[in-house]
Amino acid sequence: MATKMPAAQNRLFKNMFICKNCKHKMKIEPLKVLQGKVKCRKCGKRDFRVIRKK
Ligand SMILES: [Zn+2]
Repeated sequence: MATKMPAAQNRLFKNMFICKNCKHKMKIEPLKVLQGKVKCRKCGKRDFRVIRKK
């Protein structure tokens, strides 16, 4: 069942954002982040960044 699907994983990472303030991970739609409609559940700030692998 739990097969590794690169496409699915990519999509997961695409929708994951990290709060710049408290480093809390959240799954949000990128559009909402761009529009500033999302607040961090932990600290209530609106600064998010994308998760990137180095
Ligand atoms: Zn936060």
